[in-house]
Amino acid sequence: MPQDCLFCKIFAGEIPSKEVFRDPEMMAFEDIRPVAPVHVLVIPKEHVPSVAEVQSQHQALLYRMVELANRIAEERQISREGYRLVFNKGPQAGQSVYHLHLHLLGGRAMGWPPG
Ligand code: AMP
Ligand code: ZN
Repeated sequence: MPQDCLFCKIFAGEIPSKEVFRDPEMMAFEDIRPVAPVHVLVIPKEHVPSVAEVQSQHQALLYRMVELANRIAEERQISREGYRLVFNKGPQAGQSVYHLHLHLLGGRAMGWPPG
């Protein structure tokens, strides 16, 4: 694991987080600077720098990440109203942590196109 990767450290428990879910292959935790009433991040254990590096070997992992986000949305009771799942890739999209993460955002109305 890259030694300076924040999310590798969070997965390893070296940096604390408000955990929502964990299994051997992925975890979910509360975003430290939430931009919506529900703002949870889903990350794999594997250090994949961004969605652009996703390969066919990650098929099952990606499915499980989306499934987990959907499940958390159900638990937080935002599923019916709707929510947004986001991968930011690169500076123009605002990616700030280069370890794959899926944002689950909900609990308020969101504009389109995104800012
Ligand atoms: P992105 O900008 O798409 O790369 O998303 C990175 C997200 O990680 C941002 O929404 C940050 O608020 C969040 N974040 C940064 N540091 C932490 C941390 N220590 N614990 C939880 N979330 C964090
Ligand atoms: Zn990492």
